[in-house]
Amino acid sequence: MSRSVLVTGGNRGIGLAIARAFADAGDKVAITYRSGEPPAALTELGCLAVRCDITDPEQVEQAYKEIEEAHGTVEVLVANAGVTKDQLLMRMSEEDFTSVVDTNLTGTFRVVKRANRGMLRAKRGRVVLISSVVGLLGSAGQANYAASKAGLVGFARSLARELGSRNITFNVVAPGFVDTDMTKALTDDQRANIVAQVPLGRYAKPEEIAAAVRFLASDDASYITGAVIPVDGGLGMGH
Ligand code: NDP
Repeated sequence: MSRSVLVTGGNRGIGLAIARAFADAGDKVAITYRSGEPPAALTELGCLAVRCDITDPEQVEQAYKEIEEAHGTVEVLVANAGVTKDQLLMRMSEEDFTSVVDTNLTGTFRVVKRANRGMLRAKRGRVVLISSVVGLLGSAGQANYAASKAGLVGFARSLARELGSRNITFNVVAPGFVDTDMTKALTDDQRANIVAQVPLGRYAKPEEIAAAVRFLASDDASYITGAVIPVDGGLGMGH
């Protein structure tokens, strides 16, 4: 059955791989992008691309209206959009902290809250939040990012309790290091150090994160909610 799927930040990196995975499986996929133009590959796959900055509640509302008109109620939401602004605590400004939390945690709250309306009416829904191994292990220089990603776990688990009886599941995928623009900023030394700590000895491909997300949104995962699934090459050892 073809479902209405929304992937935030689906224009590149992990989000793009997730959008592809759902589209390849025959779902009706909408993605949001914040800047630039969405890649042509998405249009070829039949995905709807909607411009939306998740830090702006009005843009979130507008995006949902557009998506609902085209694809109907969102049945699967993948809250993937996220940013980093790394800095040691001593040099971390108020803005460095709040802007990361506003995108990664409060932005996720905005898109989940809006999706919930339709899911309640439909009496079903799947929500997958993209956290990070860093949210559970911590990371020097990423206190803002780690706090926002750890916050997603409490958020998802609270909603799993609040809305389980309504047949809506909330799960978290915690990727390790993935080959995307976000990690391209790291130096060769930093990359080598990271890989040395990963039992599987390499970065993840975005498609490997997408596979776990698709599983959590599938019928095979109908009894899974409030879970945190690490896809990190063993880095967190299951946390
Ligand atoms: P990228 O930097 O490649 O992509 C980030 C995506 O988020 C882009 O689509 C970007 O849009 C979007 N985005 C950022 N801010 C906003 C905003 N305010 N409103 C709407 N969209 C926004 O990152 P990745 O693909 O690597 O990461 C995707 C998710 O996975 C993130 O949540 C990240 O924290 C998480 N993650 C990544 C890991 C990695 O190693 N790469 C590891 C663990 C977790 P735009 O193109 O317009 O900037």
